[in-house]
Amino acid sequence: MKKYIKPADIILTAVFLAAAIAVYFLMYKNTAPDSIRITTPDGTTVVYPLGTDVTVAIVSSDYDLSNIPADAQIITTTATSGCCNIITIKDGAARMEYSTCANQVCIESGDLTRAGQTSICLPNRVSVEVAGEGGYDAITR
Ligand SMILES: [Zn+2]
Repeated sequence: MKKYIKPADIILTAVFLAAAIAVYFLMYKNTAPDSIRITTPDGTTVVYPLGTDVTVAIVSSDYDLSNIPADAQIITTTATSGCCNIITIKDGAARMEYSTCANQVCIESGDLTRAGQTSICLPNRVSVEVAGEGGYDAITR
């Protein structure tokens, strides 16, 4: 077995490294987050500028509104009976604050701050995503 490194190996390694670096920069290029897009069970998307501090409650038409913070914006949707998702946008971060869903996966997403980050509540059909300038919007439209 030969133990020296062949020139082809060096070229291959260099090409691989260059590709890895290119991918790194493509993935982490600074896409500035500029808005929060909330998709409701109706399939409509509500967009809030990232600078807004707001609490949004996505509720089914029969949901008891006394459970919702008084300052929240309430969006009544065709959500399944008894469904409610509360999303807060504050200090440049969005988070799924409260959800009536059983699995609570959406809550575990925590703070969303970077463009492309998403919290999806599959049971309640609500999603929150951080949108930014650049090519990202083209994917969702
Ligand atoms: Zn959920």
